[in-house]
Amino acid sequence: MSSFSEKKLLIATYNQGKFEEFKSILGDLDLQIMSAKDLNLSEPKETENSYLGNARIKSRSSCQASNLPSLADDSGIEVHALNNQPGVYTADWAETKTGRDFKKAMDLLWTKLTLTKKQKPFSAEFCCTLVLTFPNGEEKIFEGRVTGEIVWPMRGPEGHGYDPIFLPKGYSKTFGEMKEHQKNRISHRYKALRKFINFYQEISPNID
Ligand code: IMP
Repeated sequence: MSSFSEKKLLIATYNQGKFEEFKSILGDLDLQIMSAKDLNLSEPKETENSYLGNARIKSRSSCQASNLPSLADDSGIEVHALNNQPGVYTADWAETKTGRDFKKAMDLLWTKLTLTKKQKPFSAEFCCTLVLTFPNGEEKIFEGRVTGEIVWPMRGPEGHGYDPIFLPKGYSKTFGEMKEHQKNRISHRYKALRKFINFYQEISPNID
């Protein structure tokens, strides 16, 4: 039976922006939360072509290396006018020889959108798939999405990745203009993590 007997949860990520969101959203749970980076675990290659496949690779690799329940996120932005690109390749669009450059990635996305000659609004979704792996091999999957549109130019210094060009539906601020606590009440990651929190509370019934 899967459990959190050591009251520890490993977040299988090297992305500091994501990790800060995990810590903020999971902060009220009685779990010690650490990242793969904190434990200096090696980062596996994301070789699958789905969020689920890549989240599974990261979650299993961290769980095997640490022997702790490990939660991995694979996420991306899907732009409808670009046939849901970049999707699972969202991080790849930011790759440069010297690391990831999200300004370059957002420029690329905007150039591609302009070339479609389609008119705004440019509807889009952020998607998040979480995989939780326990040392006994059991696995749980949680998913979340948030709809909105791509706006240009980039707006706001907050957040990470593509946040400055994503305007969530029903709001006037991009994710890049929202404070962390605002984004963390509506984001794709929050929605998926809410499902994880419900699961955690079900299997740890005496805990807030
Ligand atoms: P992953 O680390 O392979 O899952 O890459 C997902 C990529 O999607 C990240 O590098 C981010 O650029 C982007 N992404 C995912 N979630 C968010 C978000 O909440 N805000 C901005 N960009 C995000």
